[in-house]
Amino acid sequence: MVLTCPFCKVTHLTKQGLYRLTRIVLDIDSFYILATESLHCVKCKKNQIGWSEAILDQLDPATRSTFPVQMMYHSACDTRVIYLLRHRG
Ligand SMILES: [Zn+2]
Repeated sequence: MVLTCPFCKVTHLTKQGLYRLTRIVLDIDSFYILATESLHCVKCKKNQIGWSEAILDQLDPATRSTFPVQMMYHSACDTRVIYLLRHRG
């Protein structure tokens, strides 16, 4: 899968290692910690976080569906929680 830089639209993103921050994700009966990679554009020199919408939106639907987290500004929620909230009686 080739990812495109969301800033300059070229396909020169390289891995920069783990992103320095993790995110605690609320699940149905627990929390878990989510980590991601930092991606670097060799052309515009900007970095992008692997879980950003700009990157996730480039994934094909099958791959995207394996990322079960709804990211918010300071928090994150597993999509199983969102499903339960939407379908509670
Ligand atoms: Zn770029």
